[in-house]
Amino acid sequence: METQLSSFSHVSEQPALLIPVAEGDGIGPEIMSATLAILKAADPKLDFKKVTVGLKAYESGLMSGIGDDTWDAIKTHNVILKGPITTPQGGGYKSVNVTLRKTLGLYANLRPCVSYHPYVSALQPKMDVVIIRENEEDTYAGIEHRQSAEVYQCLKLITRPGCERIVRYAFEYARAHGRKKVTCMSKDNIMKLTDGLFHKVFDDIALQYPEIENNHMIIDIGTARIASRPTDFDVVVTLNLYGDILSDVAAEVAGSIGLAGSSNIGHDCAMFEAVHGSAPDIAGLDIANPSGLLLSSVMMLVHLGRAKPASHIHNAWLKVLEEGLHTADIYKPGISRKKLGTRAFAEAIIERLGQTPEKIAAVEYPEYEPVSLIHPEVNTAASSTVNKTLMGVDVFLNWDDYGRDPEVLGSNLKTLAGPEFHLALITNRGVKVWPNGNPQTLRTDHWRCRFPLAESHSDSRAISMLLMRLADAGFDAVKTENLYEFDGVRGYSQAQGE
Ligand code: NAD
Repeated sequence: METQLSSFSHVSEQPALLIPVAEGDGIGPEIMSATLAILKAADPKLDFKKVTVGLKAYESGLMSGIGDDTWDAIKTHNVILKGPITTPQGGGYKSVNVTLRKTLGLYANLRPCVSYHPYVSALQPKMDVVIIRENEEDTYAGIEHRQSAEVYQCLKLITRPGCERIVRYAFEYARAHGRKKVTCMSKDNIMKLTDGLFHKVFDDIALQYPEIENNHMIIDIGTARIASRPTDFDVVVTLNLYGDILSDVAAEVAGSIGLAGSSNIGHDCAMFEAVHGSAPDIAGLDIANPSGLLLSSVMMLVHLGRAKPASHIHNAWLKVLEEGLHTADIYKPGISRKKLGTRAFAEAIIERLGQTPEKIAAVEYPEYEPVSLIHPEVNTAASSTVNKTLMGVDVFLNWDDYGRDPEVLGSNLKTLAGPEFHLALITNRGVKVWPNGNPQTLRTDHWRCRFPLAESHSDSRAISMLLMRLADAGFDAVKTENLYEFDGVRGYSQAQGE
């Protein structure tokens, strides 16, 4: 491959740039070697510093899978190109990806999903969608508890600043890249407070971008429509868990998850990686497709302001695809012309640097300010002046007595409510079982008991006294949630059947 490097005469007008790279595990070293050879050939002023992430770090006793040299390099250079990592099963090892995203505040995860039909076979021949996924919040905060023999919970945390910055990022991205429409996807018909906030912030921020069309879809039909009518979409912005699933669906219908690149963007730094994993089944065989990592590195060059080499690499890659020179994962007799290994595929791209595709539309990345420099407009003044009023408390009990009869529980709790509270209702898995519950409702050992405060006792110490009365009576309160109104608006959901 070395001989090919000197054959491309383009010389970057940009200054020298050092990029930290983590090879990764499994196929990581092969696809990274191929990718770096192409990058170096397109922009000789790039240099790379290998850092320790993944199995090597785990084996040296680092449960995070991330070496100190990696943190130092990211702190200095504000960027990392990362190969796929094998997370060892069990043993308390942490996911490198989640740790890097959260520690570095990489709040935006971008996945462009483009099909290259008829040169690469695709379920959807006309697809060009960018999925922008919130990357830090939601159930990925990883706050989980087991509360009883039968019930486990995972907290879904959605914040206003988190929603504001990802939604604003999506609109700024659309503006910077000449995209015409941003679609928000959420499930706010069910989760009216959390997903409702995401949708509301989207509607508010959309008003500031009148030139960009916007709409909202419920995530389930939205995912179905991405798979069936992708041309209805341009940029999609969504919450963390939905985005995780949606972007895999979108990448797959665009051709192959093996072709998809991604970027993780924060205010100060960014991480670029392929969407696929470490593919241990084909490691060391020189058959892996380096395209996902290569396209991630193209996104990295654009992010770093190296638009010219980014366009050169992308166009050479498109030319290789349209000539039917394919790696085994996308090789199809009748469509492909020749099956290439990882190294030969990279060499074919290097040979075509400076050329543009003839059948697939060429790309030309514009020079622009990286979108990540935008800071979220967090209205802290508004948060401090909001009028928060305690209205009561939900107490969650682990209770497994008297055949789980809600009538028995209700009559006991009514007495224990004392003068400060009254017992308004009891639910089981969110469904009202007292008063007047339906005997068909499945009853687990986990009961949510709602105690609104009597107005004359609006002191939060009353909650502690209620909990003491419950404990003295032998009840196991596993969790409480205070009920508040904010500026007179209810800040808690009603039960099904309430
Ligand atoms: P995978 O993406 O590694 O592999 C799934 C299938 O796709 C395999 O058959 C594999 O051979 C094939 N494949 C993947 N990338 C390919 C490529 N570039 N070229 C050709 N074929 C390719 O998913 P998996 O098998 O579920 O996971 C393997 C390991 O990767 C696990 O340890 C998992 O935790 C890890 N993983 C890491 C990341 C990451 O670091 N970003 C992402 C996903 C999975």
